[in-house]
Amino acid sequence: MKIARLLVCVIIIVSFHSCKLIGLNVNHDNPRKGNVYPTFTQKDSIRGALTSLRSSFDVHYYDIHIALQPAKKYIQGFVDIEFSVVSATDKIQIDLYENLTLDSILYENKRIPFTRTYGAVYVSFLDSLQNGTEHSIRCFYQGKPVKAKKSPWKGGFVWDKSKDGNPWIGVTCEVDGASLWWPCKDHISDKPDRGVRMNVTVPHGLQVISNGVLQSESHTEQTSHYIWQTNYPINTYNVTLYVGAFQHFSEIFKGKDAEFTLDYYMLPEHIEEAKTVFAQTSDVLHFYESIYGPYPWSNEGFKLVGSPYAGMEHQTAIAYGTDFKRQRHFLGFDYIIVHETAHEWWGNAVSVDDYAEIFIHEGFATYSEMLYVEKTYGTQAAKNYMSFYAMLIKNKNPIVGPRDVNFWDYKDTDPYLKGAWVLHGFRRLLDDDDLFFDIIQGFYAESYLSIVTVADFVAYVNSKTKSNYSWYFNQYLYEREVPYLQYAFEQDVQGNVNLYLVWNSVPEGFEMPVRIFVTINSVEYPIVLKPSTDIKKFVLHSCQSVSFDSDYVYYSLKKDTDIIRKINKK
Ligand SMILES: [Zn+2]
Repeated sequence: MKIARLLVCVIIIVSFHSCKLIGLNVNHDNPRKGNVYPTFTQKDSIRGALTSLRSSFDVHYYDIHIALQPAKKYIQGFVDIEFSVVSATDKIQIDLYENLTLDSILYENKRIPFTRTYGAVYVSFLDSLQNGTEHSIRCFYQGKPVKAKKSPWKGGFVWDKSKDGNPWIGVTCEVDGASLWWPCKDHISDKPDRGVRMNVTVPHGLQVISNGVLQSESHTEQTSHYIWQTNYPINTYNVTLYVGAFQHFSEIFKGKDAEFTLDYYMLPEHIEEAKTVFAQTSDVLHFYESIYGPYPWSNEGFKLVGSPYAGMEHQTAIAYGTDFKRQRHFLGFDYIIVHETAHEWWGNAVSVDDYAEIFIHEGFATYSEMLYVEKTYGTQAAKNYMSFYAMLIKNKNPIVGPRDVNFWDYKDTDPYLKGAWVLHGFRRLLDDDDLFFDIIQGFYAESYLSIVTVADFVAYVNSKTKSNYSWYFNQYLYEREVPYLQYAFEQDVQGNVNLYLVWNSVPEGFEMPVRIFVTINSVEYPIVLKPSTDIKKFVLHSCQSVSFDSDYVYYSLKKDTDIIRKINKK
């Protein structure tokens, strides 16, 4: 998902106090008040917990049939849910928002009973479904789906119009859940592993774009009917549709392992600018293929589709918000293309089982931006890119949030920005780019089309490095507070500089290295020091100046001459 903030890098010439006022955390402080979450209710648990009513079955396929009436902002249709039984059960939970009417559920062509609590639908079978058996239910439903309050962050339908007066419609539902517009098992731990077919009927003359490949289109005097299909596993929140009177252009992409089409569907008013801006798409795809591995969905191609909202990583059919100016970074690249395309690898091909773990999607996608900047614009541009992101980190909540309550606060950008810094800091600590990219590529390859957790990534890092980096990831992913380094200088009688360092806001024994630059005879030398939670003295012989490397690990730095007094007292 696109970050919920205008991230236009500007040269910031503002004082510390005014930085605070505009929300920049220049000193990387920890706010006093943290770990602030809403009060979770039974409704959140029903929505987010993987109870036996959900874990007892595994969804293989969704066949969605839906008719849209834009004039009434109304949808109607049915969904076939094909699943197999993991543990014998006579009752399962699927989900559909309360505001939508669930007319009936058929099993083996007969109506079966169901009850509804909040967004949960409890479906009962007359006989117990046996372990290992496959089944299908058909759910008929209709209603006015929720309108998006702030798509894509507060999801729902967007019923817009293009300049020619035609309807221009889209839907987003990450976190909100696909059950806001179609019945499904709305838990991100279960993707339909055989994919989704999307059968959509719209008023005549409108076009429908969806995930995967167009199977067929047909038209009557009143309606147009489109069938799209993806055969890959897909997060239910990535299942989407775009309706409009689009124009189309395309190009052939010669990928690492396969050749496929890049298709672009845009409204007439955006098509010319899109032809210029989208010229960078193939470069972005080539770059991600080079660092992560082949594009995950080469059998079904890649699409950018003009959307009446900012942007979203809908699998094989990325939403492109068409605010070209706003999305253009001053370096020259398009933020939506660079960020959302990275999600095809991180978030779509490798996905998490709970929004608590969203670092794997957003931290990796945001760090992908930096890697693209580094490759395209050089080391200094990448350093500036990360420095700017560091100032936006809030440290209010840990990056890994509470599980089983379907929670992710889109206003907290730390899973993006601090998440990117977690990867950057790890890369710096490792000090071996070959190994770093081996780890990232290896974890991707091992997790391709799988559901993972943050703990899986940390375990992979530890096994590949044959070291224990859990202390680092625990601090930065599971604790909200950034480590802060107290420091003080003094010059001794021999002319040496004594540098005193101590870590705070960390567990006892925390010994994260930091890198400094010392200038001796006008030449700058990098030195890695290893402070701890006890005050340590480092003697720097004959140096003229000392500075801390801000492009190393993310931490807070505070001068405090009192630590000299404290160590001398010991
Ligand atoms: Zn994102």
